[in-house]
Amino acid sequence: MKFQPRASHFIDGEYVEDTNGTAIEVIYPATGEVIARLHSATPAIVEQALNSAKNAQAAWAALSGTERGRILRRASDIMRERNYDLSVLETHDTGKPIQETTVADATSGADALEYFGGLAASLTGEHIPLGGGDFVYTIREALGVCVGIGAWNYPTQIACWKGAPALACGNTMVFKPSETTPLSALKVAEILVEAGAPKGVYNVIQGYGDVGASLVTDPRVAKVSLTGSVPTGRKVYAAAADGMKHVTMELGGKSPMIVFDDADIENAVSGAILGNFYSSGQVCSNGTRVFVQKSIKEAFLKRLSERLDHAKIGDPMDENVSFGPMVSENQMNIALGYIEKGKAEGARLIYGGERIDRDGYFLQPTVFADVTDNMTIAREEIFGPVMSVLDFETEEEVMARANDTEFGLAAGVFTNDLTRAHRIVAGFEAGTCYINTYNLAPVEAPFGGSKMSGVGRENSKLAINHFSEMKTVYVSMNDVEAPY
Ligand code: NAD
Repeated sequence: MKFQPRASHFIDGEYVEDTNGTAIEVIYPATGEVIARLHSATPAIVEQALNSAKNAQAAWAALSGTERGRILRRASDIMRERNYDLSVLETHDTGKPIQETTVADATSGADALEYFGGLAASLTGEHIPLGGGDFVYTIREALGVCVGIGAWNYPTQIACWKGAPALACGNTMVFKPSETTPLSALKVAEILVEAGAPKGVYNVIQGYGDVGASLVTDPRVAKVSLTGSVPTGRKVYAAAADGMKHVTMELGGKSPMIVFDDADIENAVSGAILGNFYSSGQVCSNGTRVFVQKSIKEAFLKRLSERLDHAKIGDPMDENVSFGPMVSENQMNIALGYIEKGKAEGARLIYGGERIDRDGYFLQPTVFADVTDNMTIAREEIFGPVMSVLDFETEEEVMARANDTEFGLAAGVFTNDLTRAHRIVAGFEAGTCYINTYNLAPVEAPFGGSKMSGVGRENSKLAINHFSEMKTVYVSMNDVEAPY
């Protein structure tokens, strides 16, 4: 099998296998064929990985930031050199079109390695004068062993978004990719070692939720960073709390995108396409509740349908294809179930709605109009190519409706009224907001959610605070005064 890795896990700088672990079949979503067979980590593998990360941590943290950063930047260069091969792997792991994976996966991972590699040398504490010559200084310290747990939609990116800041701060990591897309994180581990990362600094083990759970509860682990759904987030956060561990939770969403009648319709339609159909709709920050002001609703829907006719659906390895399959049969069936609910609850299906008659897990890009706030498709995260269009009349009304959700990952507004745009964004209950664009996630900017969508932020300088802590040192230059 062309994509079969040398072994299932990568621990202490080497590929490691334990065939006693439950089988994991990796399926190419475009054809349904099995492209690799792996094994879930046994308790012995989990033990080996945590020991390796624990043993490597002190020496890694003792390197200068410049040295750690150099290794991360070298890894970034290697990833960019191999972008095409890594993208081919990512396309087979996820089904996402090569047109997307060549620009949004290994490249985004490389950005994170480069950015946090660049920051590594500047991670310091501060000096705080107290008067009378006394002072405090703070030391920025690594947390220790960090666990990363990934979702299946951006496997390379997630492996790097968690690994790069963790390693820059002097932590080591055990990363568990999603069981659905286990292949590319192994490549990230390989590349880091090739770039000079000492053994044990970045380990990858495979497994289902039970393996993730066993990592989260282990006393050697200081921090858990999860990308996944809200139900999993709840469990992981609770388990981490028991051990008072640090957490970052990047969870699901049902984000609003508001289109006012003064917006540039072409741009708004582009935003709605990016925010609903990129990666076949399997993006956490998607703006799946598209509120369109009533006066432009029909014009918006007409243009959206015309533009969707130009989506090129097919073999994701064809560079002209812009819309691929869903990641798995299971995920496709979940989305189909929501489409049926949408129809049953009275939403107007204006585009798509069917499975495509070919091998693999292809679903048509689907748009429902006349969706109302209480319909299931407007309340629950679908994580598939299903857009809900809702009407609104006034700014006040739409603001309240946009925020009426347990989620708070992202939110967007399209308008040419400058003051309204900022007023709307100020009112959004969401961690990541967009004005006249949608779904960008550059490494320089914080990314993450509010409310049930998450805790903490990835990317940007803020991520450093989630992978390090301050030690405070009081220094007296004077005699110690005691009451007796
Ligand atoms: P999921 O919650 O089913 O699984 C996520 C990961 O958690 C997997 O690796 C899984 O094996 C592991 N896991 C499951 N149960 C666990 C447990 N009890 N303890 C520890 N680990 C456990 O999510 P998914 O279906 O893989 O991914 C889709 C979800 O991820 C969507 O909700 C999506 O919105 C979200 N997501 C969020 C972001 C973000 O940055 N906010 C990015 C991508 C995806």
